[in-house]
Formats: sequence, structure tokens, C-alpha cells
Amino acid sequence: MASVSRLAIVGGGPAALMAAYSAAITSQKMHKPIEIIVLERNRSFGKKLLCSGSGQCNLTYDCLSDQLVEHYGDHGTFLHHAFQKLPPQAVMQLFTSWNVPLTIRQDGKVFPRSLKSIDVLNSLLHQCKQHDVVLKPGFQVHSIKKKEEKFIIETHQQPSYESDAVIVATGGLSYPKTGSTGDGYRIAKKIGHTIIPPHAALNGVKVEERSISKLSGLSFAEATVSLIQDGKPMLLSEGSLLITHDGLSGPAILNASRYLSEGDSISIGFGTKSDLGQSLFSKLVNQASVSGSQQVRTVVSHLGFPMSFVDWILLEIAIEGNKKAAETSKNNYKAIASAITDHRFVISLGDWQQTAMVTAGGVSLEEIDSTSMMSTIVKHLYFAGEVLDIDGDTGGFNLQAAWATGYLAGTHAACAL
Ligand SMILES: Cc1cc2nc3c(=O)[nH]c(=O)nc-3n(C[C@H](O)[C@H](O)[C@H](O)COP(=O)(O)OP(=O)(O)OC[C@H]3O[C@@H](n4cnc5c(N)ncnc54)[C@H](O)[C@@H]3O)c2cc1C
Repeated sequence: MASVSRLAIVGGGPAALMAAYSAAITSQKMHKPIEIIVLERNRSFGKKLLCSGSGQCNLTYDCLSDQLVEHYGDHGTFLHHAFQKLPPQAVMQLFTSWNVPLTIRQDGKVFPRSLKSIDVLNSLLHQCKQHDVVLKPGFQVHSIKKKEEKFIIETHQQPSYESDAVIVATGGLSYPKTGSTGDGYRIAKKIGHTIIPPHAALNGVKVEERSISKLSGLSFAEATVSLIQDGKPMLLSEGSLLITHDGLSGPAILNASRYLSEGDSISIGFGTKSDLGQSLFSKLVNQASVSGSQQVRTVVSHLGFPMSFVDWILLEIAIEGNKKAAETSKNNYKAIASAITDHRFVISLGDWQQTAMVTAGGVSLEEIDSTSMMSTIVKHLYFAGEVLDIDGDTGGFNLQAAWATGYLAGTHAACAL
């Protein structure tokens, strides 16, 4: 009797569980029995999935797979095959067929209708169990070695496992309490892979200007974030912006954060790109000419800015807000427009490993076959999810990448055994 092949999956998050499921259904379809084991260091699975979307789990984004790739910085094209295999519509179909009804919000974000991430996790675990996946919580893998055709997977808990193929899906380096502590990078490096230095993605930033804390909680529906390079602003993102007690957050900052480093200078435009620049200055001058007897602060607030923000801006640039609009010079209006459209901050990332929702960097994509997720260095070794040098925008894009790369890796690993 032919011996049963074994596929070991390291990690027990969304990418790993989806990989286990897809490997199981592939082996079933091919009438080729494969033992699939999932080794998770925590006592329970999917801790990060449970906190996703503030516990509500924004599990994907409703758009075509061609449009998806734009949401992953410079690395989107690598995901093309994975998204062809499991586009958002297929993710939605899977969860719906697993009795997790979904809701698509007007902005395209997809959530379980219950708004409970536990429903998403339980459905995945249930599918794995239904398909005889062996789930092994409480096993932390510390190394993977190749010995002839077999992999030896060593765990801190002692038993080492032998397998014919391995999928590493250990996640990134942030939110370490969830179990994602960068183990996958060390494992991958030891077996010969290059690691792109990990850094923060989807992270708020702190700013040196302490006075901004006065505006804590204030949000702007539209803002632009640019990085200052050689004195010039280079646009990184647009979207809503939130002022926090010590800095800036909200989608515009979160999506820009993959490009930001400690001590960078950024420029914030408080408004849409088209509202800003020269047009804001002209609007201010026009408003001042029709409301000359009003105070400058009132004139600025007429353009739709909250008074607390106007007072803060005027104080920052030392312009008297109580003066009559007609008595204020054009140069002052120019300075006000500039402070609103191109406000410079020096940022700090703080202890980003505790706060970044996603880790950018990771296993270099140069050494991964994007059509299968298999290593080009070690045959039958695969990578999936955030352990790869992939990070997406906020909006369900990171889970979409985890599902799709996990699905592709699982399918290929099972086919290749
Ligand atoms: C607060 C927060 C909110 C988020 N919200 C969203 C959202 O709404 N939508 C979205 O798309 N994305 C969201 N994300 C990002 C998303 O959760 C991650 O990108 C996704 O979980 C990555 O999946 P993964 O399976 O690759 O890794 P992980 O979910 O990190 O899972 C990796 C697993 O591997 C295990 N592991 C690590 N090392 C070992 C080892 N040595 N041996 C065995 N097991 C190991 C870990 O314990 C962990 O369970 C959020 C992240 C955070 C932190």
C-alpha cells in the first residue's frame, strides 16, 4: 500500500487555515489521501483574525481582482495569480456557503452580517475539521530542515514532525500578543531565504507638534498625505484623517505608513487635492472681500473648517484670528492657505510593533513563484499570508491577500505531492 504523504502547515491564522482547507479539498478531488497538520504556537487559532476590524472582521473588499492589485503598493502584481484563483467574489461565496452570511457596505468593505469575527474563524475551523485536517494548537515551530526529500519540523515542545511539503504562514511581526512575533522570518532565513527588513504598515504616526493634542478626536473626511523629499511633497495617499492625542491616524495615514520611516517629514493637506493649493487661497481672499467686517477666524471657518482647527492653525502661524478680515494682508491669507494645504510635521513611528496592524517587509517575493507560492530555493516549501513581503491598504485587503495566497499554496502543495 502506498504511504500517505504529509503536508505540514506552520501557523494557525487565516492564511494557514485557508491553505489547510484548500489542500484538503484538492486531495479529495484528486482521490489522493494527504495527511494535513496545522501547527499553531498558541493554545487557540486565529487570535489576530479575532481582533480584525475591531472584532467585526472586514474580511475582503468587493471589487474585481484586476482592481485589487492597486491596493498593495509596489507588490500588487505579485498577487495577480492568487487573486485569479480566489478573488473577493470567491471568498464571499465560500463564507456564505459555510453559513456565514455577509454584508457589503456602501464603501465596498465586506463583513460577516453578525459583525463577529468569531463566526468567520469558527466556520474555517469547522471546514478544516470536516475535511480531517489535524489541528495542533500549542506547538511553536523553531526550525525547518530539509533532509533528502523530507522536511524535519522542530518545535519547542519537542516532538519533531516529518513531512513531504510545508507551508509557512506565521504572519508578521506586529501585535505580538496574537502570536505573530516574526518566527517565520527566522525560519525562512535559516533555510536560505532573503528577508526584506520588516517595518510598519497600517500604523498611525506620532508628531513632534504637541499642541495638536488639543484637537484630539477631530476628523477630516478628506485629506492628503505627502512625503517631503528634497524639500518637495510627494503625494502618498488621500482619504479620511483622524487627529489623535499624540499624532495622526485614519485611512489616509494608515495607507501612507508603509512608505514612512522614523523622523520623516510629511505634509498634510486638510481637504481634497482639488480643494487645496491655489484654489484655497483664492477662496479665502474672496470670502474676506465679501465679509471684511468679520473676524479672520470666522472667514476661515466659513470654508468648512471647524473653529477649534482654525484657532489652532492661526496660533501655529502667529496670525491674529480676532482681527477684522479686511485688515488682514494677502500675505497672511497666503500663509493661512499654506498652513492648511501643506502643513508640515516631523513624524515618529513609536513602538510600531505594538501598534501597526500589518507588517510590511518579510520573505522576499523574488524567491517565491507567484503562480504557486512555492519557494524557488527549496522545493515543496511554500509561504502564504503576511510572512511574505506583502501589505495591503486598510479595507479588507490584508485578509484578502491571506485567503488568496493561502488558498493557492494549499492547492499547489496538495497537487505537487
Ligand atoms: C488590530 C488589527 C485589526 C485588523 N483588521 C483587519 C481587517 O479588518 N481586515 C483585514 O483585511 N486585515 C486586518 N488586519 C490584518 C490581518 O489581520 C492580517 O493581515 C492577517 O491576520 C494575516 O494573516 P496570516 O494568517 O498571514 O497571519 P496571522 O493572522 O498573524 O497568523 C499567524 C499565526 O501563526 C502563528 N505562529 C507564529 N509563529 C509560529 C510558530 N513559530 N509556530 C507555530 N505557529 C506560529 C501565530 O500564533 C498566528 O496565529 C488587522 C490586524 C490587526 C492587528
